[in-house]
Parts: sequence; structure tokens; C-alpha cells
Amino acid sequence: MRYIRRLADGTPRHGSVVAVDTLNAASDAANADTAEVEVWIDQELCTGDGLCVQYAPEVFEFDVDGLAYVKDSDGDLKLAQGARVPVPANLRLDVLDSAKECPGNCIHVARAGDGVPIAGPDA
Ligand code: SF4
Repeated sequence: MRYIRRLADGTPRHGSVVAVDTLNAASDAANADTAEVEVWIDQELCTGDGLCVQYAPEVFEFDVDGLAYVKDSDGDLKLAQGARVPVPANLRLDVLDSAKECPGNCIHVARAGDGVPIAGPDA
């Protein structure tokens, strides 16, 4: 069985046809121990291509420097290096997809409680 994730305009995501088992594994990882999940970006490696902003605009946004940053639930960009924000449960798969496909390999996703990496360069 295959599953196609789509962008808000209905177009399939790049590399979006994946086996359901893969999605389930990612979901299991994100939901491990029902832990809260946090995300941050290493802007030193960001290419500015905007994939993450397309996938999860509620969590990622460009600043005037053309690089992506995380933002909190109030929509405030977190510009400090290594600043992290919690990921709402309904956006976890979008954030995981962003980390998996980030061309700069610079989106870090980890469990909030113990910092165990879930996706990104340290996972
Ligand atoms: S996907 Fe990665 S490289 Fe691309 S804009 Fe987002 S953080 Fe930067």
C-alpha cells in the first residue's frame, strides 16, 4: 500500500510516495513515549530553498536574511542560534518530512524530555 502526501495546493510533495510502513515508523518515532517533540534549525547550513516552509508553514518561516527559522505558536520567529520550539502533535509528520528532505540536512528534531534525536543530522 502506498500513500501520497500533498502540499496545501494539492500537488504531490517531492519524494512523497512512500510505503505506509515507513510513515508508520516515522509516526511511531515521533510519538515514542508520547513525548513532546522540539525542532530547531542550524542556519549555518540552510540553503534557503524553502522546502520546510512549504511543508510546515506553521513551524518554519524565512527571515529577511533568506534563511529559515522556527517560530512559536504565536508566530514569533526564534532568531537566536539553536533556538527550538515545540512541535504541535498534528504537525509532527510535516516536520519529520521537512527534516528528512531538508537539502541542508540542518533541521533537528528531538524529544523534548531527554533530547534524543528523532530526525535530522543527529538521528
Ligand atoms: S528545508 Fe532546510 S535548507 Fe531548506 S530552507 Fe528549510 S532549513 Fe533551510
